[in-house]
Amino acid sequence: MINLNVSKNSNIDNIFNKIYQSRHLDNDDLFCLLEDSENFNEIIQTADCINKSINSNKVSYVVNRNINFTNICYLNCKFCGYKRTANSKDSFTLTIDKIIEKINEGYKIGINEICVTGGINPDFNPDFYFDLIKYIRANFPELHIHAFSPQEIFELSCKTGFSYEKVFEILKENGLNSMPGTAAEILAPETRKTICKDKISADKWVKIIKTAHKMDIKSSATILFGHIESNTDIVYHLDLIRKIQDETNGFTEFIALPFISHKTSLKHQVKIDINTNANRQKILKFYAILRLYLHNFKNIQTSWPKIGAELAVQSLACGTNDFGGTLMEESITKSAGGNFGEYLSESDIISLIKSAGKIPVRRDTLYNYI
Ligand code: SF4
Repeated sequence: MINLNVSKNSNIDNIFNKIYQSRHLDNDDLFCLLEDSENFNEIIQTADCINKSINSNKVSYVVNRNINFTNICYLNCKFCGYKRTANSKDSFTLTIDKIIEKINEGYKIGINEICVTGGINPDFNPDFYFDLIKYIRANFPELHIHAFSPQEIFELSCKTGFSYEKVFEILKENGLNSMPGTAAEILAPETRKTICKDKISADKWVKIIKTAHKMDIKSSATILFGHIESNTDIVYHLDLIRKIQDETNGFTEFIALPFISHKTSLKHQVKIDINTNANRQKILKFYAILRLYLHNFKNIQTSWPKIGAELAVQSLACGTNDFGGTLMEESITKSAGGNFGEYLSESDIISLIKSAGKIPVRRDTLYNYI
């Protein structure tokens, strides 16, 4: 059981007072905001105001390419529509040559980041991971390599017998720059066990992320929300993330990923139609709450592949300040039934940001403006 001491002692007026006095919200405040169903507009407007005070009217984006190099995976996360077994007709694994070819396609549109992750393929030799980074670096000396989730780092550590430090040391030597903070899903232990019992524990996820940050490998921070998690689970998760950020300052941004249910086994427990007004409002409110609670995050990213470009544009008035990337290929959301596409061109993103009355700013992975 989680013992968070979340109480209902907070109330919405106190929360707004605290915010306007520049005081940080506590976990009771977060819980109260999550439970609130009457102050949608005030929450959104306050988040927008805070965001403007930090990021003015600028909205950043990155020109990048995603590569998911295999969908073969031996884990069984209930929210996943992407994984296949080796015998599945539509399973795939890309060779290193094929990955280099795909990166070359990205080069033609001027990417400055490559994001590489995959399923946990039991047949993979650790050398595949190490060599992949080495080859990418050899072929693309200037490219920022953002690769391998904490789950993949864990598998590498198990297969090689190396500590997490050693695994990161080799990857860094080979050319790794940063990593996605995925596989976090929901870090509250009981719910985590229910939706992804085979995944690394929350403790291991935290240990791997902190190790990366200590070795100057920055990462994103993520949450998968809108499934079976309770508001207490969300408080647990965000509290943990905020504490890690206080300790390491190693997260570049926070990315909230709404659960896409259609082609996942979890859809029998929770089926979500992202296009209903209630769900759209829930998502926008969630982004706003992140801006209010995560005082030590400058960057809150919206997620157009999950929620669609239209809602992503709306979220720019709810506390988010980053539009994410061009991606070119985002097969994980698509496999779960997401139908918002896998690619937006740089000019599409610029137009969308401008349509929200914001100023588009191209950035690199570490949020330096280009
Ligand atoms: S979410 Fe990732 S680790 Fe989990 S089953 Fe899907 S591919 Fe495998």
